Amino acid sequence: MSVKKIKKRLNKNRIIKLLYIHKSLTNAFLVKETGLSLPTVSNLLKELSEEGYVKIQGYGASSGGRKPNLVGLQKDSFYSIAIEVERRFGKITLMNSNNDILYEPVQFELNIYDKFETVEIISYQISNFISKISVDKDKIIGVGISLPGLTNAQKGINYNFLNFGDKTVADILKEKTGFEVKIINDAQARALAELRFGKAKNVQNALVIYLGNGLGTGLILNGKLYQGSTGFAGEFSHIPVVENGLLCHCGKRGCLETIASGSAMERMALEGIEQGEHTELVKYVKEKRGKKQLFYMDIVDSALRGDSFAIEILSKTGTELGRGISMLVQILNPELIIFSGQILKAGHLITIPVEHSLIKYCLNELREAVSIDISDIGKEASLIGAVINLTENIFSTQ
Ligand SMILES: [Zn+2]
Repeated sequence: MSVKKIKKRLNKNRIIKLLYIHKSLTNAFLVKETGLSLPTVSNLLKELSEEGYVKIQGYGASSGGRKPNLVGLQKDSFYSIAIEVERRFGKITLMNSNNDILYEPVQFELNIYDKFETVEIISYQISNFISKISVDKDKIIGVGISLPGLTNAQKGINYNFLNFGDKTVADILKEKTGFEVKIINDAQARALAELRFGKAKNVQNALVIYLGNGLGTGLILNGKLYQGSTGFAGEFSHIPVVENGLLCHCGKRGCLETIASGSAMERMALEGIEQGEHTELVKYVKEKRGKKQLFYMDIVDSALRGDSFAIEILSKTGTELGRGISMLVQILNPELIIFSGQILKAGHLITIPVEHSLIKYCLNELREAVSIDISDIGKEASLIGAVINLTENIFSTQ
Protein backbone atom coordinates (compact mmCIF):
# COMPACT_ATOMS: atom_id res chain seq x y z
CA MET A 1 0.00 0.00 0.00
CA SER A 2 1.28 3.47 -0.82
CA VAL A 3 1.95 5.94 2.01
CA LYS A 4 -1.02 8.00 0.83
CA LYS A 5 -3.31 4.98 0.98
CA ILE A 6 -2.05 3.97 4.44
CA LYS A 7 -2.69 7.50 5.70
CA LYS A 8 -6.18 7.43 4.28
CA ARG A 9 -6.94 4.05 5.90
CA LEU A 10 -5.68 5.33 9.28
CA ASN A 11 -7.81 8.47 8.99
CA LYS A 12 -10.84 6.35 8.15
CA ASN A 13 -10.10 4.18 11.20
CA ARG A 14 -9.96 7.32 13.35
CA ILE A 15 -13.41 8.32 12.12
CA ILE A 16 -14.85 4.80 12.64
CA LYS A 17 -13.41 4.74 16.16
CA LEU A 18 -14.89 8.15 17.04
CA LEU A 19 -18.29 7.18 15.64
CA TYR A 20 -18.13 3.86 17.50
CA ILE A 21 -17.52 5.61 20.83
CA HIS A 22 -19.80 8.64 20.40
CA LYS A 23 -22.57 6.98 18.34
CA SER A 24 -23.47 10.10 16.31
CA LEU A 25 -21.42 13.18 15.50
CA THR A 26 -21.37 16.30 13.33
CA ASN A 27 -18.73 16.88 10.67
CA ALA A 28 -17.52 19.87 12.72
CA PHE A 29 -16.84 17.62 15.76
CA LEU A 30 -14.90 15.17 13.55
CA VAL A 31 -12.83 18.05 12.14
CA LYS A 32 -12.02 19.23 15.67
CA GLU A 33 -11.17 15.75 16.99
CA THR A 34 -9.08 14.56 14.02
CA GLY A 35 -7.42 17.85 13.08
CA LEU A 36 -8.29 17.11 9.43
CA SER A 37 -9.84 19.72 7.13
CA LEU A 38 -13.59 19.82 6.51
CA PRO A 39 -13.27 18.77 2.81
CA THR A 40 -11.05 15.81 3.84
CA VAL A 41 -13.53 14.70 6.53
CA SER A 42 -16.46 15.05 4.08
CA ASN A 43 -14.62 13.04 1.46
CA LEU A 44 -13.68 10.27 3.93
CA LEU A 45 -17.28 10.12 5.20
CA LYS A 46 -18.52 9.80 1.61
CA GLU A 47 -16.18 6.87 0.99
CA LEU A 48 -17.05 5.24 4.33
CA SER A 49 -20.71 5.56 3.41
CA GLU A 50 -20.06 3.84 0.04
CA GLU A 51 -18.16 1.09 1.93
CA GLY A 52 -21.26 0.55 4.09
CA TYR A 53 -19.88 1.87 7.38
CA VAL A 54 -21.48 5.28 7.78
CA LYS A 55 -24.92 6.81 7.38
CA ILE A 56 -26.63 10.11 8.13
CA GLN A 57 -28.61 9.63 11.32
CA GLY A 58 -30.51 12.90 11.65
CA TYR A 59 -29.80 16.52 12.42
CA GLY A 60 -27.88 18.14 15.27
CA ALA A 61 -28.69 21.37 17.08
CA SER A 62 -28.30 24.49 14.94
CA SER A 63 -26.08 27.35 16.05
CA GLY A 64 -27.95 29.86 13.85
CA GLY A 65 -27.95 28.48 10.31
CA ARG A 66 -28.97 25.19 8.78
CA LYS A 67 -29.07 22.24 11.19
CA PRO A 68 -25.89 20.13 10.76
CA ASN A 69 -26.10 16.46 9.70
CA LEU A 70 -25.39 13.87 12.36
CA VAL A 71 -23.39 10.93 11.06
CA GLY A 72 -23.07 7.55 12.74
CA LEU A 73 -22.08 3.96 12.02
CA GLN A 74 -24.52 1.69 10.24
CA LYS A 75 -25.55 -0.55 13.12
CA ASP A 76 -24.65 -3.73 11.24
CA SER A 77 -21.56 -2.47 9.44
CA PHE A 78 -19.52 -5.03 11.37
CA TYR A 79 -19.97 -7.71 14.03
CA SER A 80 -17.81 -8.97 16.89
CA ILE A 81 -17.87 -12.26 18.75
CA ALA A 82 -17.76 -11.59 22.49
CA ILE A 83 -16.57 -14.14 25.05
CA GLU A 84 -16.30 -13.91 28.81
CA VAL A 85 -14.20 -16.53 30.53
CA GLU A 86 -14.50 -17.09 34.28
CA ARG A 87 -12.77 -19.86 36.19
CA ARG A 88 -15.65 -22.30 36.00
CA PHE A 89 -17.72 -21.13 33.06
CA GLY A 90 -17.69 -19.06 29.92
CA LYS A 91 -20.27 -17.33 27.75
CA ILE A 92 -20.42 -16.28 24.14
CA THR A 93 -22.52 -13.91 22.05
CA LEU A 94 -22.40 -11.62 19.01
CA MET A 95 -22.47 -7.83 19.07
CA ASN A 96 -22.97 -5.35 16.23
CA SER A 97 -21.15 -2.09 15.54
CA ASN A 98 -23.74 -0.31 17.66
CA ASN A 99 -22.69 -2.46 20.66
CA ASP A 100 -26.06 -4.19 20.76
CA ILE A 101 -25.92 -7.75 22.05
CA LEU A 102 -27.67 -9.65 19.25
CA TYR A 103 -28.13 -13.05 20.88
CA GLU A 104 -28.83 -14.12 24.45
CA PRO A 105 -25.31 -15.12 25.64
CA VAL A 106 -24.80 -18.89 25.56
CA GLN A 107 -23.23 -20.20 28.76
CA PHE A 108 -20.83 -23.16 28.77
CA GLU A 109 -18.82 -24.98 31.40
CA LEU A 110 -15.04 -24.99 31.57
CA ASN A 111 -12.24 -25.48 34.06
CA ILE A 112 -9.65 -22.76 33.47
CA TYR A 113 -7.02 -24.70 35.47
CA ASP A 114 -6.88 -27.14 32.53
CA LYS A 115 -5.47 -24.80 29.87
CA PHE A 116 -5.41 -27.29 26.98
CA GLU A 117 -9.02 -28.29 27.50
CA THR A 118 -10.02 -24.62 27.93
CA VAL A 119 -8.69 -23.52 24.50
CA GLU A 120 -10.34 -26.56 22.90
CA ILE A 121 -13.65 -25.63 24.53
CA ILE A 122 -13.39 -21.96 23.52
CA SER A 123 -12.59 -22.72 19.87
CA TYR A 124 -15.35 -25.35 19.73
CA GLN A 125 -17.82 -22.84 21.20
CA ILE A 126 -16.81 -20.24 18.59
CA SER A 127 -17.35 -22.56 15.60
CA ASN A 128 -20.53 -24.00 17.07
CA PHE A 129 -21.91 -20.50 17.72
CA ILE A 130 -20.97 -19.28 14.23
CA SER A 131 -22.73 -22.23 12.62
CA LYS A 132 -25.97 -21.29 14.36
CA ILE A 133 -26.20 -17.55 13.70
CA SER A 134 -27.60 -15.90 10.62
CA VAL A 135 -25.48 -12.82 9.88
CA ASP A 136 -23.02 -12.05 7.07
CA LYS A 137 -19.96 -13.88 8.44
CA ASP A 138 -17.58 -11.76 6.32
CA LYS A 139 -18.55 -8.81 8.47
CA ILE A 140 -17.21 -10.43 11.68
CA ILE A 141 -14.07 -8.48 12.62
CA GLY A 142 -12.85 -10.95 15.25
CA VAL A 143 -13.23 -12.32 18.77
CA GLY A 144 -12.90 -10.24 21.93
CA ILE A 145 -12.28 -12.25 25.11
CA SER A 146 -12.19 -11.15 28.74
CA LEU A 147 -10.15 -13.36 31.07
CA PRO A 148 -9.31 -13.47 34.77
CA GLY A 149 -5.70 -13.15 35.90
CA LEU A 150 -2.58 -11.37 34.73
CA THR A 151 -3.12 -10.49 31.09
CA ASN A 152 -1.03 -8.48 28.67
CA ALA A 153 -3.71 -7.28 26.26
CA GLN A 154 -1.22 -5.85 23.80
CA LYS A 155 0.77 -9.09 23.46
CA GLY A 156 -2.23 -11.44 23.86
CA ILE A 157 -0.71 -13.32 26.82
CA ASN A 158 -2.55 -14.61 29.89
CA TYR A 159 0.04 -15.53 32.51
CA ASN A 160 -1.96 -17.17 35.30
CA PHE A 161 -4.19 -19.62 33.53
CA LEU A 162 -3.65 -19.86 29.76
CA ASN A 163 0.11 -19.58 29.48
CA PHE A 164 1.51 -21.69 26.63
CA GLY A 165 5.09 -20.46 26.63
CA ASP A 166 6.23 -19.48 23.14
CA LYS A 167 2.78 -19.12 21.65
CA THR A 168 0.21 -16.73 23.05
CA VAL A 169 -3.34 -17.87 23.79
CA ALA A 170 -4.57 -15.21 21.35
CA ASP A 171 -2.41 -16.71 18.55
CA ILE A 172 -3.47 -20.28 19.35
CA LEU A 173 -7.16 -19.34 19.20
CA LYS A 174 -6.57 -17.38 15.99
CA GLU A 175 -4.97 -20.46 14.39
CA LYS A 176 -7.80 -22.70 15.51
CA THR A 177 -10.68 -20.41 14.50
CA GLY A 178 -9.33 -18.22 11.69
CA PHE A 179 -10.49 -15.08 13.49
CA GLU A 180 -8.43 -12.21 14.86
CA VAL A 181 -8.48 -12.66 18.67
CA LYS A 182 -7.91 -9.93 21.27
CA ILE A 183 -7.86 -10.68 25.00
CA ILE A 184 -8.11 -8.39 28.01
CA ASN A 185 -8.20 -8.84 31.81
CA ASP A 186 -11.82 -8.96 33.02
CA ALA A 187 -11.58 -6.03 35.44
CA GLN A 188 -9.87 -3.92 32.77
CA ALA A 189 -12.61 -4.90 30.30
CA ARG A 190 -15.22 -3.64 32.75
CA ALA A 191 -13.27 -0.42 33.31
CA LEU A 192 -13.07 0.12 29.55
CA ALA A 193 -16.84 -0.41 29.27
CA GLU A 194 -17.41 2.18 32.02
CA LEU A 195 -15.01 4.61 30.37
CA ARG A 196 -16.59 4.42 26.92
CA PHE A 197 -20.26 3.82 27.66
CA GLY A 198 -20.83 3.88 31.42
CA LYS A 199 -20.51 6.02 34.51
CA ALA A 200 -16.84 6.89 33.95
CA LYS A 201 -17.54 8.44 30.54
CA ASN A 202 -16.73 12.01 31.53
CA VAL A 203 -14.61 11.19 34.55
CA GLN A 204 -10.86 11.72 34.70
CA ASN A 205 -9.89 9.45 37.62
CA ALA A 206 -11.93 6.45 38.66
CA LEU A 207 -11.53 2.98 40.15
CA VAL A 208 -13.65 0.19 38.73
CA ILE A 209 -13.89 -2.62 41.28
CA TYR A 210 -15.04 -5.94 39.86
CA LEU A 211 -16.33 -8.25 42.54
CA GLY A 212 -17.00 -11.69 41.09
CA ASN A 213 -15.49 -15.05 41.86
CA GLY A 214 -12.25 -13.12 42.43
CA LEU A 215 -11.58 -9.45 42.92
CA GLY A 216 -10.26 -7.16 40.19
CA THR A 217 -9.63 -3.49 39.65
CA GLY A 218 -9.51 -1.37 36.52
CA LEU A 219 -7.82 1.99 36.84
CA ILE A 220 -8.94 5.03 34.88
CA LEU A 221 -6.33 7.73 35.21
CA ASN A 222 -6.39 11.07 33.40
CA GLY A 223 -9.35 9.93 31.30
CA LYS A 224 -7.63 6.76 30.03
CA LEU A 225 -7.55 3.09 30.98
CA TYR A 226 -4.25 2.65 32.79
CA GLN A 227 -2.71 -0.78 32.09
CA GLY A 228 0.78 -0.27 33.49
CA SER A 229 4.12 -1.16 31.90
CA THR A 230 3.28 -4.83 31.18
CA GLY A 231 -0.51 -4.71 31.32
CA PHE A 232 -0.95 -5.85 34.92
CA ALA A 233 -1.96 -2.61 36.62
CA GLY A 234 -4.82 -2.93 39.08
CA GLU A 235 -3.90 -6.31 40.59
CA PHE A 236 -4.70 -4.98 44.02
CA SER A 237 -6.51 -8.14 45.05
CA HIS A 238 -3.12 -9.74 45.65
CA ILE A 239 -1.78 -7.21 48.10
CA PRO A 240 -1.04 -8.97 51.40
CA VAL A 241 -3.46 -7.94 54.15
CA VAL A 242 -3.49 -10.94 56.50
CA GLU A 243 -0.28 -12.00 58.25
CA ASN A 244 0.16 -15.79 57.66
CA GLY A 245 -3.29 -15.82 56.07
CA LEU A 246 -4.91 -18.36 53.82
CA LEU A 247 -3.17 -19.63 50.70
CA CYS A 248 -4.33 -17.66 47.65
CA HIS A 249 -4.62 -19.22 44.18
CA CYS A 250 -1.76 -16.88 43.13
CA GLY A 251 0.56 -18.88 45.39
CA LYS A 252 0.99 -16.26 48.11
CA ARG A 253 -0.66 -16.05 51.52
CA GLY A 254 -3.12 -13.57 52.99
CA CYS A 255 -4.04 -11.68 49.80
CA LEU A 256 -7.05 -9.35 49.95
CA GLU A 257 -8.85 -11.72 47.57
CA THR A 258 -8.74 -14.49 50.21
CA ILE A 259 -11.04 -12.42 52.46
CA ALA A 260 -12.95 -10.18 50.00
CA SER A 261 -14.27 -11.97 46.89
CA GLY A 262 -17.02 -14.32 45.76
CA SER A 263 -14.88 -17.36 46.50
CA ALA A 264 -14.01 -15.99 49.97
CA MET A 265 -17.74 -15.53 50.62
CA GLU A 266 -18.35 -19.15 49.62
CA ARG A 267 -15.63 -20.34 51.97
CA MET A 268 -16.98 -18.25 54.90
CA ALA A 269 -20.46 -19.66 54.29
CA LEU A 270 -19.28 -23.28 54.18
CA GLU A 271 -17.21 -22.79 57.35
CA GLY A 272 -20.22 -21.27 59.13
CA ILE A 273 -22.49 -24.09 58.05
CA GLU A 274 -19.91 -26.59 59.26
CA GLN A 275 -19.97 -24.87 62.67
CA GLY A 276 -23.74 -25.15 62.85
CA GLU A 277 -24.81 -21.59 61.88
CA HIS A 278 -28.55 -21.29 61.51
CA THR A 279 -28.98 -20.24 57.86
CA GLU A 280 -31.09 -21.05 54.82
CA LEU A 281 -27.82 -21.38 52.84
CA VAL A 282 -27.70 -25.03 53.94
CA LYS A 283 -30.15 -25.92 51.19
CA TYR A 284 -27.81 -24.60 48.42
CA VAL A 285 -24.78 -26.66 49.39
CA LYS A 286 -23.92 -29.19 46.71
CA GLU A 287 -21.45 -32.01 46.66
CA LYS A 288 -19.16 -31.97 43.60
CA ARG A 289 -16.20 -34.33 43.16
CA GLY A 290 -16.32 -35.06 46.89
CA LYS A 291 -16.10 -31.34 47.78
CA LYS A 292 -18.84 -29.24 49.32
CA GLN A 293 -19.71 -26.26 47.09
CA LEU A 294 -21.94 -23.23 47.26
CA PHE A 295 -22.32 -20.41 44.70
CA TYR A 296 -21.70 -16.85 45.93
CA MET A 297 -24.88 -15.58 44.28
CA ASP A 298 -26.89 -17.90 46.57
CA ILE A 299 -25.39 -15.94 49.49
CA VAL A 300 -26.44 -12.63 47.87
CA ASP A 301 -29.98 -13.89 47.26
CA SER A 302 -30.29 -15.23 50.81
CA ALA A 303 -29.04 -11.92 52.22
CA LEU A 304 -31.64 -10.03 50.16
CA ARG A 305 -34.29 -12.31 51.67
CA GLY A 306 -33.08 -11.30 55.15
CA ASP A 307 -30.92 -14.29 56.14
CA SER A 308 -28.79 -12.75 58.90
CA PHE A 309 -25.80 -15.06 58.44
CA ALA A 310 -25.69 -14.24 54.70
CA ILE A 311 -25.96 -10.51 55.52
CA GLU A 312 -23.05 -10.88 57.95
CA ILE A 313 -20.89 -12.46 55.20
CA LEU A 314 -21.61 -9.54 52.85
CA SER A 315 -20.89 -7.07 55.63
CA LYS A 316 -17.51 -8.67 56.40
CA THR A 317 -16.67 -8.72 52.68
CA GLY A 318 -17.58 -5.03 52.29
CA THR A 319 -15.58 -4.05 55.37
CA GLU A 320 -12.40 -5.80 54.15
CA LEU A 321 -12.89 -4.57 50.62
CA GLY A 322 -13.29 -1.01 51.89
CA ARG A 323 -10.07 -1.32 53.86
CA GLY A 324 -8.26 -2.37 50.67
CA ILE A 325 -9.90 0.33 48.58
CA SER A 326 -8.91 2.99 51.12
CA MET A 327 -5.26 2.29 50.24
CA LEU A 328 -6.01 2.91 46.57
CA VAL A 329 -7.91 6.09 47.42
CA GLN A 330 -4.94 7.36 49.42
CA ILE A 331 -2.56 6.67 46.54
CA LEU A 332 -4.65 7.72 43.53
CA ASN A 333 -7.14 10.32 44.83
CA PRO A 334 -9.96 9.23 42.48
CA GLU A 335 -13.25 11.10 42.12
CA LEU A 336 -15.35 7.99 41.57
CA ILE A 337 -15.42 4.32 42.58
CA ILE A 338 -17.67 2.18 40.41
CA PHE A 339 -18.63 -1.29 41.60
CA SER A 340 -19.26 -3.90 38.94
CA GLY A 341 -20.26 -7.56 39.08
CA GLN A 342 -23.31 -9.63 39.94
CA ILE A 343 -22.61 -9.48 43.71
CA LEU A 344 -23.58 -5.79 43.57
CA LYS A 345 -27.16 -6.96 43.28
CA ALA A 346 -26.77 -6.87 47.09
CA GLY A 347 -26.58 -3.04 46.82
CA HIS A 348 -26.31 -1.30 50.20
CA LEU A 349 -25.63 -4.57 52.00
CA ILE A 350 -22.16 -4.34 50.53
CA THR A 351 -21.62 -0.65 49.70
CA ILE A 352 -22.46 0.65 53.20
CA PRO A 353 -19.78 -1.49 54.90
CA VAL A 354 -17.35 -0.29 52.18
CA GLU A 355 -18.23 3.33 52.96
CA HIS A 356 -17.77 2.71 56.70
CA SER A 357 -14.29 1.38 56.03
CA LEU A 358 -13.43 4.39 53.86
CA ILE A 359 -14.52 6.70 56.70
CA LYS A 360 -12.40 4.70 59.11
CA TYR A 361 -9.23 4.37 57.03
CA CYS A 362 -9.06 7.31 54.56
CA LEU A 363 -7.97 10.85 55.23
CA ASN A 364 -11.06 13.05 55.28
CA GLU A 365 -9.95 15.25 52.39
CA LEU A 366 -9.49 12.24 50.10
CA ARG A 367 -12.68 10.51 51.19
CA GLU A 368 -14.75 13.63 50.64
CA ALA A 369 -13.42 13.90 47.07
CA VAL A 370 -14.65 10.43 46.09
CA SER A 371 -18.15 9.08 45.51
CA ILE A 372 -19.28 5.46 45.29
CA ASP A 373 -21.61 4.18 42.61
CA ILE A 374 -22.80 0.88 41.15
CA SER A 375 -22.38 0.22 37.43
CA ASP A 376 -25.54 0.42 35.31
CA ILE A 377 -24.03 -1.39 32.30
CA GLY A 378 -25.48 -4.67 33.51
CA LYS A 379 -24.27 -8.20 33.82
CA GLU A 380 -22.66 -8.31 30.37
CA ALA A 381 -20.07 -5.59 31.15
CA SER A 382 -17.14 -7.98 30.59
CA LEU A 383 -18.47 -8.98 27.15
CA ILE A 384 -18.94 -5.32 26.20
CA GLY A 385 -15.45 -4.37 27.40
CA ALA A 386 -13.89 -7.31 25.53
CA VAL A 387 -15.53 -6.12 22.30
CA ILE A 388 -14.50 -2.49 22.83
CA ASN A 389 -10.90 -3.73 23.22
CA LEU A 390 -11.21 -5.77 20.02
CA THR A 391 -12.83 -2.97 18.01
CA GLU A 392 -10.34 -0.33 19.09
CA ASN A 393 -7.50 -2.67 18.14
CA ILE A 394 -8.94 -3.63 14.75
CA PHE A 395 -9.57 0.00 13.81
CA SER A 396 -6.15 0.90 15.05
CA THR A 397 -4.81 4.35 14.27
CA GLN A 398 -1.14 3.51 14.67
ZN1 LIG B 1 -3.14 -13.72 45.75
